[in-house]
Amino acid sequence: MNARTDIAVVGSGAAGIAAAVTAARAGRDTILFDQHSAAGGTGGFSGLTTTCGLFDDAGKFLNEGFAREFAEAIAASAPRQMGKVWVQPYRPEKFREVAVRLFATTPNLRTRWSEPIGEVVCEAGRIVSLNGHRVGAVIDCSGTAEVARAVGAECLATDDTTQAPAVFFPLHHVTRPLPTAAEVAQVLLPFTVARRAGRMIVGEYVLTGADVLAGRKFSDAVARGAWPIEQWNAQGVTRLRYLPPGAHYEIPARSLRAARVTNLFMAGKTISADVDAIASARVMGGCLATGAAAGNLAVASLASLPT
Ligand SMILES: Cc1cc2nc3c(=O)[nH]c(=O)nc-3n(C[C@H](O)[C@H](O)[C@H](O)COP(=O)(O)OP(=O)(O)OC[C@H]3O[C@@H](n4cnc5c(N)ncnc54)[C@H](O)[C@@H]3O)c2cc1C
Repeated sequence: MNARTDIAVVGSGAAGIAAAVTAARAGRDTILFDQHSAAGGTGGFSGLTTTCGLFDDAGKFLNEGFAREFAEAIAASAPRQMGKVWVQPYRPEKFREVAVRLFATTPNLRTRWSEPIGEVVCEAGRIVSLNGHRVGAVIDCSGTAEVARAVGAECLATDDTTQAPAVFFPLHHVTRPLPTAAEVAQVLLPFTVARRAGRMIVGEYVLTGADVLAGRKFSDAVARGAWPIEQWNAQGVTRLRYLPPGAHYEIPARSLRAARVTNLFMAGKTISADVDAIASARVMGGCLATGAAAGNLAVASLASLPT
């Protein structure tokens, strides 16, 4: 068994970056694990170019703090209005670059690449060790609730009928006039499959689609969202359900704390939400905001321990 760490974060997508940096900045010894060899997750490696869920319908940031800091650091241009919503254009390579810089410059933060979740030991409803490290708290930012799965915590799942996967065919060195079909093979980079469907850990409260559409507020709110409920069926058809004009909803701390494992927190695609609510909260602005909030909640849960 290795030395004790205060907080273990699993996953280095938008949620995991926010959670790990927030926890470490608060002075807690933090280790971030990812099964991949580099930081970025979906936002860094799937060829996406817009951060959604950062703004209200007037283009004002919904969440200050780390969500805004990271979004501004990766921005490729000014925020842009797309119909009823605002998005922030970004470049995936900048996403990865900023993550690397943050990991290299944040004190108290160590990273373990190419290290998937292995043994997770839970005793009396508390995780005591993860991959051989004794831990004070764990934040599951794996997108598919891998920590929860390892300890048998209850989960909900989306599926490919409401969150169909997409295939990206990135092209490089393309100028106008656009290449002919025969020329495309010369400029086509390897394609990637990106999965929207994830797994949500059942928390002390399950955020619902009705909460989202009603712009519901909570006394223990830790993050805000206003992105529509965005679902994709297997035929690639999108169904968007918008909040009323000017409205936003809140995400309670209870949706970031696992119901039956006292020191397990979650952020990004794994928060406690039903299939409708997660279809709004899963966009990257929501992942950054819940990541930072989960980092703070994990830190607060260790308040009685010395830093
Ligand atoms: C096709 C598609 C289009 C999208 N378009 C947009 C868009 O335009 N704008 C937007 O804002 N959002 C968009 N999204 C949604 C958004 O990108 C994701 O929901 C969000 O990035 C998820 O972030 P996350 O941090 O929760 O998880 P992820 O980014 O999925 O990160 C999870 C990390 O956990 C790691 N991991 C998984 N299992 C393990 C394990 N067992 N052990 C260790 N590590 C593990 C993974 O390697 C990964 O790095 C899109 C998603 C898809 C699929």
